[in-house]
Amino acid sequence: MFSRRIFLRGKLGATFLGVSVNGKQAIGAKPSRDFFQDLGVHGFINAAEPFTALSGSQMPPEVVEAWEYACTRNVRLDELHDAVGKRIANLIGCEAAMVTAGAASALTLATAACLTGLDREKVRRLPDTTGMKQEVIIQKSHRYGYDHAVRNCGIRYVEVETADQLKAAVSDRTAMLHFFNTNEPVGRIKAEEFAALGKRRGVPTLNDIAADVPPLSNLSRSIQLGFDLVAVSGGKGLLGPQSCGLLYGRADLIRAARLNGPPNSDSIGRGQKVNKEEMLAMMVTLELYFKRNHAADWREWEKRVNIIRDRVSAIRGVTSEMFVPEIHYRVPHVRIRWDQGAIPFSVPEMIRKLRDGQPSIEVRPNTENGLEMGVWMLKPGETEIVARRVHEILKGG
Ligand SMILES: *Cc1c(COP(=O)(O)O)cnc(C)c1O
Repeated sequence: MFSRRIFLRGKLGATFLGVSVNGKQAIGAKPSRDFFQDLGVHGFINAAEPFTALSGSQMPPEVVEAWEYACTRNVRLDELHDAVGKRIANLIGCEAAMVTAGAASALTLATAACLTGLDREKVRRLPDTTGMKQEVIIQKSHRYGYDHAVRNCGIRYVEVETADQLKAAVSDRTAMLHFFNTNEPVGRIKAEEFAALGKRRGVPTLNDIAADVPPLSNLSRSIQLGFDLVAVSGGKGLLGPQSCGLLYGRADLIRAARLNGPPNSDSIGRGQKVNKEEMLAMMVTLELYFKRNHAADWREWEKRVNIIRDRVSAIRGVTSEMFVPEIHYRVPHVRIRWDQGAIPFSVPEMIRKLRDGQPSIEVRPNTENGLEMGVWMLKPGETEIVARRVHEILKGG
């Protein structure tokens, strides 16, 4: 076991020697100090998704370079945020944008903006919403774990199911209409109609598209559909810093959201700090993402799926397929099923074996349909390792 671990470590080290940025070693290069080893914490191969608990995606060297540039310079934060926001808004094609501490923070700041507007006294008062509009309308099927970020602001959710119910629910207490993009197919009111209903009644609409990029077009789709605010994660499909996200849309609301966040000390979002490093890194993240060859990415992901499928398809009782989730993480994935008569362990047991093996591999936590893996977070050389480990385990190794 020991020698095998050393062997694998050596092999991974060689495979992941990073490209160099301005002559410096980039991410993935052999570090001068191995912090994880020092601390006794364990790395793993991400065959799951850019989950927060798995530390998200990894930043391209250009993003790391922007981060490093900011580290050694002073700047007036609001001045930088204005300039970065303008660049990002131009790329997306919207009025205004701001960098947030993740999509969850974007939800909080969006809600706060709709409650307070530019009234500094109201900004100070949140989450006490006395004297403010206090209700956020959402479709029942769009309630989800992240709505805590909206409830943080002291609002009360009003749940509706149909467009008529929504129209009836809107009143002078309504601060915002909240849409969860991933659940569009299960809700009766679709995105376009939802945004239009908000417009007609003069109530701002927010769309949470946190994990719904790629495709790139989703960044501007919500704006084109008429949403006033959009929240997206920086550290998922966009491959930016995991501590970042974006809120963008109507200029007056972004201005109000800025008032509700750092560096304004007396605000609900003050704990969701974003500094110059996050701002520059997020700007470069967007610039890169707009320039990226997305068709080539797709072909590469399909290739990885096929490498894994080819490896396991020779085993009797094993079947596999490629699948693409409809909205959330819309990229090629692989699903592997096996006949439990021939191979006597369950999907959860398989997940444990992969996690406990060498090297450790994390996969999607879904267990009903078989073993599901995302391949888009894999680094060069890792697809083959994943294919080999899954094959080994299915063969009884
Ligand atoms: C991941 C996610 C969030 C939170 O995003 P962070 O960038 O981690 O703050 C919010 N909403 C949805 C739908 C998500 O998938």
